[in-house]
Amino acid sequence: MTANDEFFMNEALLEAKKAFIVGEVPVGAVIVHSGKILVRSHNLVESLQDASKHAELACMQKAAEILQNWRLLGCTLYCTLEPCSMCAGAMLLFRIPRLVWGAPDVRHGANGSFVDLFSKTHPTHTIDITSGVLQDECSHIIKEFFQKRRMESNVRESL
Ligand SMILES: [Zn+2]
Repeated sequence: MTANDEFFMNEALLEAKKAFIVGEVPVGAVIVHSGKILVRSHNLVESLQDASKHAELACMQKAAEILQNWRLLGCTLYCTLEPCSMCAGAMLLFRIPRLVWGAPDVRHGANGSFVDLFSKTHPTHTIDITSGVLQDECSHIIKEFFQKRRMESNVRESL
């Protein structure tokens, strides 16, 4: 882990905050290329009513479009939450060289929390992974989101 990892994870957290404001589960991601942020995105599952609109997948799709290359060479993907199996699978396909994630996801995490898609040496691609960067901040915002949602639904039920 480097100081840069914390800097870029903070940028991913800013994306998570944007998701929080619009009522999405607060997960954010950025892709860094040549030392700069190439793309940024956040969870849009509720807004688009599409379970595949995860922050990190959206980032990979946008980055490939910008770089005009589906192989995301030289890219580091920062995500506030441990990737799910869909996104982890996409990382292998998009050839992401390096992944940095923040908080574990006990329900869907595909880097050890639920399953581990990276536990075996993949025949064509290995991803360098750093986990737990700004873990407290990344998990706090999600806990806060669900607490707020529970409180709101309690209020609705008592009306
Ligand atoms: Zn995902």
